[in-house]
Order: sequence, then structure tokens, then C-alpha cells
Amino acid sequence: MVIVNQVLEQSVVVFSKNYLPISKVNVRRAVQLLIAGKAEALDLVQETSWFVRSPSIVLAVPAYIRLTVASVERIWKVPSVNRREVLRRDNHTCQYCGSRKHLTLDHVLPVSRGGLHTWDNVVTACERCNQRKSDRTPLEAGMPLYTKPKAPMHPTVAFAEHFWRSESFPPEIGGTSKHNAETNISG
Ligand SMILES: [Zn+2]
Repeated sequence: MVIVNQVLEQSVVVFSKNYLPISKVNVRRAVQLLIAGKAEALDLVQETSWFVRSPSIVLAVPAYIRLTVASVERIWKVPSVNRREVLRRDNHTCQYCGSRKHLTLDHVLPVSRGGLHTWDNVVTACERCNQRKSDRTPLEAGMPLYTKPKAPMHPTVAFAEHFWRSESFPPEIGGTSKHNAETNISG
């Protein structure tokens, strides 16, 4: 038997009113949304539900819920290129050697050679790599980058991308069900 608190911490994927995956919440929050009438079960797939029991009711919490009210888009703009944001994007990891210590910012194409202070030209680098690379490009220095730098994505878009990449739908979801889901999304 699963302990109540464990169930309450399981995650439920929240879809917007327009059927876009927008976030994950725990069962506790999902129950609040369902009871308040702000969300409903999303029957995209026949998923196992989490059962939450209280003395008076048994509530089946689906693995996917859909908001019944339009979600307020949080205002978000691409953050400016600064140390805090670049380190966060790069997961506090040197993009040349993977070190997580003595981190600095490095201009991929050095400023002295016309490199700009932009999201696609600034990466996290440890002091050692920064000094070793000096005023060379990664190619000249023989120091390939772990990832190609780019501006952070809108959090909602990033979540949706991660959701569609990571979600494994059950094998019984064949042409028909999938077609229905697509109809919902486009309709
Ligand atoms: Zn390094």
C-alpha cells in the first residue's frame, strides 16, 4: 500500500485550456484544482490514476489534467546576458571541461576579435579553461564546446519540448486515439 504522503507528492501534468502541456504539479495541487473546478481530467490516454481517499470521498486523480480556465500567461522576456543567467543556463558547468568550480564567463569569439556579449557568444568556463583558451576560438584552441550556446527558451516552451520528448505513451495509443488527440489540439 502506498502511503498517502507519497501519493500526494506524485506528479500530474497540467495542460492548458488549449491542450498544451504547461507544467507539472503534485497530486495535492491537482486535487485542489479539480475540487475548485479549475481543472478536469484529460482523457488523452487511459492512464493509471492516483487514488486519494479521505473518510468521506475517494478521488481518482488522473495523471493528466486540463485547466478549464484560460491560464494567465506569465510575462517573460529573454533575460539579459549576465553571470547569474549564463551560469543557470549552463547548469553551473564549465562548457569546456565540465568543472563546476571557479566559474567565469568566456566569450567564444573573444571580444578583442569582435565577439559580442550575446547569448550565442557567452558561455560558462572555469578559470583554468578561460586562461588556457585565451584570445583564441574553440577551434584554434582545440577546446570544443559541450553545447552550442543559445538564449534561454520561454519556460512554458521549454516545458512543452521536454514533455513531448520524454513522455512515453502506452502502446495501445494507436492511430485512432492519437488522431482524436490531434483533432483536439488543432480544433
Ligand atoms: Zn573548464
